[in-house]
Amino acid sequence: MGRHPRCAEGDRPVSDGHDKIGDATRVVAAGRRAEWTAGVVNTPVWRASTILYDNVAELRARAGRDTHHRLFYGRRGTPTQWSLADALTELEPGAEATFLYPSGVAAIAAALLSILSPGDELLLVDSTYDPTRSLANGLLKRLGITTRYYDPLIGAGIADLIGERTKAIFMESPGSLTFEVQDVPAIVAAAKAHGVVTLLDNTWATPLNFRAIERGVDYTILACTKYVVGHSDVMLGSVTAAAGRFAKLRDTSHQLGQIASPDDAWLGSRGLRTMQLRLERHEQSALAIARWLETRPEVARVLHPALPSCPGHDLFARDFAGASGLFSFVLQGGGEAARAALIDGLDHFGIGYSWGGFESLAIPVDPEKYRTATKPDFAGPIVRLQIGLEDVNDLIADLERGLARFSAVRG
Ligand SMILES: *Cc1c(COP(=O)(O)O)cnc(C)c1O
Repeated sequence: MGRHPRCAEGDRPVSDGHDKIGDATRVVAAGRRAEWTAGVVNTPVWRASTILYDNVAELRARAGRDTHHRLFYGRRGTPTQWSLADALTELEPGAEATFLYPSGVAAIAAALLSILSPGDELLLVDSTYDPTRSLANGLLKRLGITTRYYDPLIGAGIADLIGERTKAIFMESPGSLTFEVQDVPAIVAAAKAHGVVTLLDNTWATPLNFRAIERGVDYTILACTKYVVGHSDVMLGSVTAAAGRFAKLRDTSHQLGQIASPDDAWLGSRGLRTMQLRLERHEQSALAIARWLETRPEVARVLHPALPSCPGHDLFARDFAGASGLFSFVLQGGGEAARAALIDGLDHFGIGYSWGGFESLAIPVDPEKYRTATKPDFAGPIVRLQIGLEDVNDLIADLERGLARFSAVRG
């Protein structure tokens, strides 16, 4: 059984020929080893700092750089973290291994620090998550690493930006806040032709909707805080490396002292088991709401990759197996007060950062404040919605009342 099309819009890959098992089966089975579970279904929490050895010879034998799957010292992990790391690797055909981090931002930082050295240049997509931009403009700059921002719709044109010092290209598709879909295969091809390393923040799609390693990406990053955990109660990140790329990432991460706690990794594994099911519901409800918003006179534009009006929609239709539950919409006129009137009175949407949990969220977003390489003019205030697992009709009714409040203030 391959992955089936879950979005009605556009053409999408119906099956992956070589897939032996489906995604729902994979997320249930991945990373569970008999020696770690001992009869328990999900790998339990192994908490540890000290690991005891039988004798000096054994202590010496267990040391080494690669301690994955081998108890050595708590900072190198226990079966709880290895189980989730392996599960995430299994979701990315062709991947070598995965390292876990205490947040998505920590994962992005470790991946970039494992690749870049003083004098190197990073090409970073202009629609990136703002803390990634802060890392580039702060710590990386201080280390003598320069960053050039590029248009998310650049595609094969990225080749023109690759120079002598270009070491890595960082992608995020779709982009944060504005959801432009990138031509990842074209960018990967240009990077490979020039010996440049590629990284992708794949948090929105997850490996279930976009298999990054199969597409040639060298490092794929997840803020597991979002869909893997799925319950808005844990910070967690991961980097999955393509074949031959893991050792450098692992060594840098060890040098940085990075470790995700066993309890958090366990909650990540627990969330993963229902991720495919949750994503289907997030996708269905978000699409229903996005299509409804498109029909509303108070809405100028809906920024959702599965809708033809979204920049890069054709690439979404070509490359993705489905959508998730996060998108934005642009209001027809109005200002800060009208937008706040919409958001403040919502009953079923919380006002808060992050996304990927079971509950709906709404926040005002102002992408024009961050952009430097591109200046998209949306001509109206933007609201970002995370669509949770509530009944979709309740969410639509809530938004309808919100749009009425917006109109009343806008006039
Ligand atoms: C939230 C987020 C991150 C960072 O994850 P944290 O776990 O919050 O550090 C990275 N990338 C994207 C696209 C995100 O939305």
